[in-house]
Amino acid sequence: MKFENNIDFAMQLDSNDPLHSYRMKFHVPKTAEGKDVIYFAGNSLGLQPKTVRAFVEQELLDWEKMGVEGHMLAKYPWLPYHEFLTAQTAMLVGAKPDEVVHMNSLTVNLHLMMVSFYRPTKERNKILIEANAFPSDHYAVQSQIKFHGYDPAECLMEMNPRDGEVTIRTEDLLDRIEKEGDSIALVMFAGVNYYTGQAFDLEKITAAAHKKGCMVGFDLAHAAGNLKLELHKWECDFAVWCSYKYLNGGPGAIAGAFVHQKHLLDMTIPKFWGWWGQDKATRFLMGHNYQPIPTVESWQLSNPPILQLAALRASLDIFDEAGMDALRAKSEMLTGFAEYLINENNNGNIEIITPAAASERGCQLSIRAKQSGKALHSRLNDAGVICDWREPDVIRIAPVPLYNTFEDVWNFVRLLFT
Ligand SMILES: *Cc1c(COP(=O)(O)O)cnc(C)c1O
Repeated sequence: MKFENNIDFAMQLDSNDPLHSYRMKFHVPKTAEGKDVIYFAGNSLGLQPKTVRAFVEQELLDWEKMGVEGHMLAKYPWLPYHEFLTAQTAMLVGAKPDEVVHMNSLTVNLHLMMVSFYRPTKERNKILIEANAFPSDHYAVQSQIKFHGYDPAECLMEMNPRDGEVTIRTEDLLDRIEKEGDSIALVMFAGVNYYTGQAFDLEKITAAAHKKGCMVGFDLAHAAGNLKLELHKWECDFAVWCSYKYLNGGPGAIAGAFVHQKHLLDMTIPKFWGWWGQDKATRFLMGHNYQPIPTVESWQLSNPPILQLAALRASLDIFDEAGMDALRAKSEMLTGFAEYLINENNNGNIEIITPAAASERGCQLSIRAKQSGKALHSRLNDAGVICDWREPDVIRIAPVPLYNTFEDVWNFVRLLFT
């Protein structure tokens, strides 16, 4: 699409937007003057769907009226409650229903997956990760390496961009796997890098890693609900994600996990056990003979937090209704429009470090301010923009297709250059 650098054009894009009414389904925070803020922080914490309150209240009410009997008798019984989210989650990430579950939180799930899929040996013990991966992921892989009796200084293999470049070239990553794959036990990459906003080619990474006999897992914190994913088809071994960013599940929301079907019945895979992974027919016989559920649900340890599942369910209903195809189509336009306006109006102080190709990014643009970035960020904040600042010099914005508008983008860029 050919964009135009004027407000009328932005408003025309909004009136032609088939998803425009979805904004009404969310609570948009207000400024002190009572105007909607420009909310570009959906990559940190998604906004609250207005339906969340009713979903959570239903569970509060059933708890109030039934106590423990709610496990069986609640309108949506708590015993199988997590299953009410399965079909929608499978759709969202391109998985089979047996391959997805919500449990715990993200870093916990990453550890549980590494218990199963990081199985170092003397010859093959390394983990390949992006050098600038999110700190929690770095800590998780370092501590897993140590836990297995190896040394992170030797076993943590970091992928850097070329000198003078900010993002990683796919061909360089595939080359590295091809050259060093024999010593790599696990390739653990983000779907979208939190800092640069670069989206990786998960299908190619998986194929290259499998060719060398490595396991592959992805952290989809910034990809779930943002990009179209085909986890089953791509054949990655596992994936994990949080649900409070693009998925709008609320602060600290329950997280997601995917294990590929090919591993589900493999009893040789090491796994931590808990009663919620025990076969559902015999779980309440309270025996001590562990029989795993033959799906990814066998990675569950504890009975899950129902209030969190209820909140997330409200949001998944909205994703289901809008559909990832339509969301992604709007997202490419919103982010493309933001990039166009920044380039048109640039005063020389701003550099976008997120890749320009739509296939290499999602909603997010990471904007490097050459001078006074922090002051610029506070000025935007004072003017009613919520976006984030990442040391040393990056402002991240995420125009989210469910609730952001082309007018938001227009107003943001005007503020960026005043
Ligand atoms: C947001 C994010 C996290 C946060 O981890 P929690 O366990 O949810 O606190 C971890 N890793 C990545 C890549 C993230 O983007």
